[in-house]
Order: sequence, then C-alpha cells, then structure tokens
Amino acid sequence: MQDDIERILLSEAEILAGIDRVAAEVTAAYRGREFTVVSVLKGSCVFASDLIRRIPIPLELAFVGASSYGDGTVAGELQTNFFPADQEISGRNLLLVDDILDTGRTLQRLSRELEHRGARSVRTCVFLDKPARRSVEFEADFRAFEVENLFVVGYGLDFAGRYRNLPFVGALREEIYATAMRTLSEGGSPGA
Ligand code: 5GP
Ligand code: MG
Repeated sequence: MQDDIERILLSEAEILAGIDRVAAEVTAAYRGREFTVVSVLKGSCVFASDLIRRIPIPLELAFVGASSYGDGTVAGELQTNFFPADQEISGRNLLLVDDILDTGRTLQRLSRELEHRGARSVRTCVFLDKPARRSVEFEADFRAFEVENLFVVGYGLDFAGRYRNLPFVGALREEIYATAMRTLSEGGSPGA
C-alpha cells in the first residue's frame, strides 16, 4: 500500500502536532458550554477520534453520513445518508468535523441542514483545507492544515475505498489513478 504513495505531505508526527493545536483552539472556544462533535463519515473518523481525545472538557459525539465522491477523484452528486436523532441536534451546540474542505459543498449543506433541524449553533472543524478548490462561499471555523490542490489519501481519506488506514497524508502515484480510471471506464470496480 505504501508503494502506491508518490510523496508524503504530512507525517504522523506533523499531523499529531497540528491536532494538538486545533484541539486547544476548540477547547478554548467551548469551555463552559455543552457541545457535540458531529463527525462526517466515513472520512473524518480518524481525525475525529484523535481530536476528541485531546479535548479535556465534556463533549458528546454523534455522526452524520455524507458522500460526494463516487469511486474516483472527481466530485459527483452530494448525498446525505443519515443524520443524528432529532434530540441530538435540537437546541445543541454542534461542531461538525470533516476530513477535508474542498469545494465547500458538503459542509455548507450539512451546516444548513443541521440549523434547519433546530441546532442552537453549528461550527465546523476540518483536518485539511484546500482553499484553491472552493466553489461556494464557505470557510471552516477551525482547521488543522492547509494543503495544495492535489488529491490526497491517508489518515481517513480514501481513494476508491482504500488507503484510509495510512497513518500519514500522501499523494497517490499517477499510475494508480490511471489504472483505476481505466477499470472504471470498462465498467469494473477499481478494487478488482
Ligand atoms: P466538498 O464538498 O468540500 O467538495 O468535499 C468534501 C469531501 O470530498 C471530503 O469530505 C472528502 O470526502 C472528499 N474529498 C475532497 N478532496 C479530497 C481529496 O483530496 N482526497 C480525498 N480522499 N477525498 C477528498
Ligand atoms: Mg468526506
């Protein structure tokens, strides 16, 4: 799996240092207030689990399901798959946590939907931010790292379902995409 990586953009040590910093910012912002971390599945599960263990104040945890990519690297139709129960949203201070802020469509849509469902406040925290790719006006309240305009994998982020378990963030080798895209255009699955 590591052989598929062209270059490492963020090492495990750099990632943990960045999460320490953002966890301190979140802690300062919510100290003395009840709040719920809402992790956007699947990509943010690794970041969210490291983040919450560095926040030493009371919080609750919930999940929301959204997917915007098919099997490739190009954003497709955004789908929301499931939401927390109404009593986990209504009147609550929510911190939406996602793996990467790209076009901004996912977090803008989820924030609006959670507000619509009665959240008291909605803020957002992202592991990675690719500002060059934004297509809607949206900025995260907290972010660990800014990255260049590259498709990245690892630390929760996948390509065709794989690479989420890499402990670092890296760019895939060109030929990995090429092979997967060829398989997809022939109607197969990239993992086959
Ligand atoms: P947005 O709605 O902001 O365009 O997209 C956010 C979602 O797209 C992320 O939660 C993530 O699932 C996916 N995404 C965007 N850029 C990348 C990337 O470079 N690598 C991977 N693996 N997923 C990405
Ligand atoms: Mg995602």
